[in-house]
Amino acid sequence: MGDLQYIDGFRLGAAAAPLQGQIAAHAARLAAGGRRVRLMEVCGSHTMAIGRFGLRDLLPENVELVSGPGCPVCVTDNGYIDAAIELARREVVVVTFGDMLRVPGSAGSLAAARTAGARVEVAYSPERALEIARREPERQVVFLAIGFETTVAPVISLIAAAEREELGNLSLLVAFKLVPPALEALIADPELQIDGFLCPAHVSAIIGSEAYRPIVERHRLPCVVAGFEPLDILLGLRGLLEMLAEQRPGLRNDYSRVVRPEGNTRARALIERYLQPVDAAWRGIGTIPASGLGLRAEWSAFDAERRFDVSTHGGRVDRRCRCGEVLRGRIRPPECGLFASVCTPEQPVGACMVSSEGSCAAWYRYARH
Ligand code: SF4
Repeated sequence: MGDLQYIDGFRLGAAAAPLQGQIAAHAARLAAGGRRVRLMEVCGSHTMAIGRFGLRDLLPENVELVSGPGCPVCVTDNGYIDAAIELARREVVVVTFGDMLRVPGSAGSLAAARTAGARVEVAYSPERALEIARREPERQVVFLAIGFETTVAPVISLIAAAEREELGNLSLLVAFKLVPPALEALIADPELQIDGFLCPAHVSAIIGSEAYRPIVERHRLPCVVAGFEPLDILLGLRGLLEMLAEQRPGLRNDYSRVVRPEGNTRARALIERYLQPVDAAWRGIGTIPASGLGLRAEWSAFDAERRFDVSTHGGRVDRRCRCGEVLRGRIRPPECGLFASVCTPEQPVGACMVSSEGSCAAWYRYARH
């Protein structure tokens, strides 16, 4: 185990020392029983924080920490990118968060389409789509509605605004993803053995810590909801190792200053009103039953897929890219033959190298050497 590095000018070693000691003690109990454990951090923000603060280096030898499918851009399927590019080429104004621009589709990216003359607007908030729709009533405007439970409510509120203002030129290309069904799919993967989940912070603020209870009870896997600070993450890892060492898998919420057991009930009601669970395609993973959200029939007028008759399914992937295995925690990014040679943040081959929350980008930035 190493020492916690200087963080933003402060040496947190003293604050982290008790947690490191407890992590070491629980890991030693597991090692005494001949046990190696594999923990997964599910959230892309956790992945970045773990890389940035070198937290992997602090873990005992018998504890492996792997990254999961918690980067929303990374899991967006090629077929969806292809559909967005097709819309942009059809004189539609496509509005999206910046990370999506350079994600490769089957043949090119939204950035390339923009360079070729398509209108693709980068937004810091969904409100930007509303502003453009108001200002340019003669143009159709499509917002790329991707992300996990965290981003759904602000995006979906565009529909209420468009209806209220009778804007007939605003719609959504919807590919929202849900975290708990993805965890179930990972547990069912015979090539992947996970011993516990470090559950996401922001997503859990919406769905609530109790959303993971079925995973704990059905599979006897410990789950801990943790915040993003280095000490939050160490606290979460300590909780997972303690439950494993004591052979008492349970659910803990170590981020109770933000996450409630029931989550954000207003946001959940909004989601329930407009959306329903649908099967969803995850990049490199495939279709996971009921792992996405689609618009309910009564809101289909705002569904860009229907309005413009485009399909978000299918699409070709670069077979050399191993994003699917990275997103499932089967391999670490350096195990991909393209890592840091052919595939870099400047010239990404796969989505995991594009996004600021992607595992490959995190390894490239913080652990390459
Ligand atoms: S290094 Fe690049 S090509 Fe390899 S898995 Fe990561 S994103 Fe895909």
